[in-house]
Amino acid sequence: MLNWITRYAPVADLLLDGDGRLADSLLDVGSGSVGFACVGGDQPFVGIDVDFWGPPAPAMVPLRSVPGRLPFADRAFDTVISLDALEHVPPGEREGFVAEIARVAARRAVVVCPCDEAAGIDELMRRMYARRGEEAPGWLWEHAEHGLPTRAAVAAACAAPEGFAARELAMPNGLLSLLATVADTDPELQPLARAEVARRPGLWADLFRDSADPSSFRVGWVLERHDPAPAAVRRDDLLATTLAALRCPRCGGCAPWPERDGIGAIDLTHAWSCA
Ligand SMILES: [Zn+2]
Repeated sequence: MLNWITRYAPVADLLLDGDGRLADSLLDVGSGSVGFACVGGDQPFVGIDVDFWGPPAPAMVPLRSVPGRLPFADRAFDTVISLDALEHVPPGEREGFVAEIARVAARRAVVVCPCDEAAGIDELMRRMYARRGEEAPGWLWEHAEHGLPTRAAVAAACAAPEGFAARELAMPNGLLSLLATVADTDPELQPLARAEVARRPGLWADLFRDSADPSSFRVGWVLERHDPAPAAVRRDDLLATTLAALRCPRCGGCAPWPERDGIGAIDLTHAWSCA
């Protein structure tokens, strides 16, 4: 959980008001089972991913989809975020991935991912797993398979969508982020890290936020629309308005037949009648 907070703490500052409340509708692309809930607590949001490795956080409306076009109308959500997902997209599809995030955002989008300056850290993590005689997790192999994007490539992908102004978002210090990942993944440190997060969640969010540093291996961009407008999906009627904003990623017009899967996620992988 600590390494989740390193990613989400700077984004929480942008999205939560002084009372810790989300102002409007939020889509988290590549959320996994926790996503924004690691900093947002009970604030409702929509998470979409190709896979959930555990029960989704109670605050999340979880949608299971396939890679490619997002299954939503243009400008469906006020804010769309995607943290540490871009590096799992094949290099040739990364600009299109950011364009999709921007397309479904009515006000702003936030894109965060580790850049290729983290390649040495990935190597160190692989050696840590090897020393313990364990297989490195899939996300580490995917980093190697696709190659982490350069700082310049992330900047170019975030500058590309028309109708937006892009500005850089400083992310937490690299060493601190690495230590958080080690604490989360080392079997002996894991219980301590969990207990610490449960005891003082705000402390860790503050620590990571205060360490934000433009030289971090993790790069962040905020894309703001020149003409922001209220989104169709509303925070106060999240499930119904989300279902109404669904659009077939293939034809754009056919009706979905979503079903809940075994962990309670709304399964859109076979939900479209045109398939
Ligand atoms: Zn269709």
